[in-house]
Amino acid sequence: MEQCLFCRIVAGEIPAEIVYRDANAVVFKDINPQAPVHLLVIPVRHIARLTDPEAADGKMLSQVFTVIQKMAAEHGLEEGFRAVANCGENGGQTVHHLHFHILGRRCMSWPPG
Ligand code: AMP
Ligand code: ZN
Repeated sequence: MEQCLFCRIVAGEIPAEIVYRDANAVVFKDINPQAPVHLLVIPVRHIARLTDPEAADGKMLSQVFTVIQKMAAEHGLEEGFRAVANCGENGGQTVHHLHFHILGRRCMSWPPG
């Protein structure tokens, strides 16, 4: 997926403030933060959106969730945070590589915009 922005960040072709990486996941700071902590947790493998994972991705995705847990512990989010995966046009997804926004250190409102 040469043209995918987040694949290019994974490959080191586009700079990003990477805070964590392992074989399955990369985490970097959102370039346009919406909260004092705003991280993007992405699978290394290119999966376009939340509805696209295959059965074989199950173990890998559970490891991505373990990374979310680790980020919450390491970024002072013990009092709670919001994890968001925008999916498709109506969901407001602008980058078509699955990512989980981790937003924290402020109180969130509901419903979202
Ligand atoms: P979404 O709209 O849910 O697809 O989220 C895409 C997110 O990627 C937005 O919050 C953007 O601010 C963020 N973003 C776009 N380009 C970059 C980049 N080069 N580095 C870090 N975050 C980015
Ligand atoms: Zn990608």
